[in-house]
Amino acid sequence: MRKFELKDKAMVTDEELIWTCQYCGVHNTVWVDLTVDGKQDFIEECRICCRPNRIIIKVDKQDENIFIESRLTDE
Ligand SMILES: [Zn+2]
Repeated sequence: MRKFELKDKAMVTDEELIWTCQYCGVHNTVWVDLTVDGKQDFIEECRICCRPNRIIIKVDKQDENIFIESRLTDE
């Protein structure tokens, strides 16, 4: 799990985050809408192996942290 810090919580509405494909290990990027409160949970396909990874993002506005996690979709 990676930890990101918001540079300016008043200005930043989206952020490009990096996640690791759980199947082939390559790094992918995804734009995250930071105006959405709490947890985001969606499926992204790897740009290399095209397999779907489950992406879980948590935005903590109080602590100004963003957490991103990738998981296997078939576990
Ligand atoms: Zn992959």
